[in-house]
Amino acid sequence: MRTPQSRSGGPARRAGPPSEVVVAGAGPAGVLTAVLLVRLGLEVLLLTGGRQRPRIEGLSQRVVETLKAQGLDRAAAAVGPPLPREVLWNGEAGARNLEHVTARAPFDAALLRDAEASGVRVREARQLAVGPGPEGAVVDYLCAEGRAVREEARLFVEARGRAAPGAKARQTRGPETTAITRRIVGAERRAGTALESFRDGWAWYVADGEAAFLQIFVDSGEGLPKRAALPAFFDRAAARLPLIGGAIGAGRAQGAVTTRNATPYLTRDLMAPGRLRVGDAALAIDPLSGHGVFQALGSALAAAAVANTLLRRPERGALARRFYLERAETGFLRACRTGRDFYALETRWPERPFWRARAAWPDRTPAHPPATAEGVAVVPRPVVEAGLIAERRVVVTPDQPRGIWRVDEAPLAELIDLLRDREGRPLADCAAEIAGRLAVTEGQLATALDWLRARGLLVPGARVRLQGAAKSPGEGAAPRPEVASPG
Ligand SMILES: Cc1cc2nc3c(=O)[nH]c(=O)nc-3n(C[C@H](O)[C@H](O)[C@H](O)COP(=O)(O)OP(=O)(O)OC[C@H]3O[C@@H](n4cnc5c(N)ncnc54)[C@H](O)[C@@H]3O)c2cc1C
Repeated sequence: MRTPQSRSGGPARRAGPPSEVVVAGAGPAGVLTAVLLVRLGLEVLLLTGGRQRPRIEGLSQRVVETLKAQGLDRAAAAVGPPLPREVLWNGEAGARNLEHVTARAPFDAALLRDAEASGVRVREARQLAVGPGPEGAVVDYLCAEGRAVREEARLFVEARGRAAPGAKARQTRGPETTAITRRIVGAERRAGTALESFRDGWAWYVADGEAAFLQIFVDSGEGLPKRAALPAFFDRAAARLPLIGGAIGAGRAQGAVTTRNATPYLTRDLMAPGRLRVGDAALAIDPLSGHGVFQALGSALAAAAVANTLLRRPERGALARRFYLERAETGFLRACRTGRDFYALETRWPERPFWRARAAWPDRTPAHPPATAEGVAVVPRPVVEAGLIAERRVVVTPDQPRGIWRVDEAPLAELIDLLRDREGRPLADCAAEIAGRLAVTEGQLATALDWLRARGLLVPGARVRLQGAAKSPGEGAAPRPEVASPG
């Protein structure tokens, strides 16, 4: 490990009280992980740094709901308004949708204020170096004053997004994609977004009323034109965009052309002793989905429970690891397959390298297998319970390979046990008692019963009649969650 040297050349010193967890990177994943761990009673240091170019992103309504549900109110308030998105894909106008057009700089600043208000210690750090230590990890960095600082932590959480160090070779990567962006002047006042496919990729135009950008996503597997040729390359692609051309009107591209890697990937070493990756540092989905920030927040919810388990219940380490890896792998594959199906809807240029590669990756497996009774099993699997990973019996189905533990608070395996003991009885006679035993309302029970009926585990009708994997205890072999294949 190369450790940074302070300007004075003096020895590295600790900048505050010892931390149980050091989180590097203050994007949505790092901030939410840090906040949740502080709420779970751990000492957390959040290291910020790294330069970000100004950028606008489209956030989904689910991001707003998650931020509010997690008490990140300043960040929720910094999310931009929902603006209409127009789509022209395969030459056809798609349904108009809404996305929250959000400038990332103020959004990220608000996230940091949420972190501080929650009791997370925040420090600026440069030249970060991480290595194994007696407690778990040793983190060396230069603080804002240029002094070398050493932190020993029980756990290091890597949340530096796509900038996180980590060998490409240890990733499952999709087709290499680069986003080429230019600022558009003279069109900023018409706020909204537009998404459009063209012969060699797709483009996203965004205007928030103050600034406007056009991002063009192209295949970069064979490299890109030289820097000097990029503006002309960009302009040629932009000329192929009738919908976006209409939105830009008299506006024109101006200033530097910037590039950003946008390849989807899954990092294989998500966990190592004393270390955990979260958000884009763990896996990045295709920006076409528009769900990157939502994915990062979901990843933080899982990472916080896993980190808490590793520190407080080390004997459950293997279970926590299994939970984290399976969650990442199944989520990544599902996002990639959903993206593949959307790319396949564009049929005008099947032989062009961009479309050929994306219509066939990652494989041919359906993104959403039908929710049939086949392959359903009741099996023990790791779940998140009260901030820890615990093993609970869940119902595994083809569309939910990691299993469903509870539906509307009702634990499914326990519900099936109670129903089995009441086979043949009128449901109306035992619903209140079952709801009481499960500590749920009758309304919640009704939702869980509907879920069982939809999966063919409970026969519709007035009497309790189970079938398939629900009929006898321990029946059915659980399918293994899918594991991402390289390529
Ligand atoms: C071209 C493109 C367009 C996208 N558009 C969208 C979109 O419209 N909607 C959407 O939801 N998602 C979009 N995404 C995805 C989204 O940006 C990410 O998924 C999301 O920001 C990931 O959150 P994160 O917290 O993991 O990482 P980030 O948000 O990248 O945060 C990482 C943090 O680490 C910091 N950092 C970096 N290096 C260091 C260092 N050395 N020391 C300390 N800190 C460091 C950075 O400054 C940053 O604050 C897009 C991605 C790309 C590539």
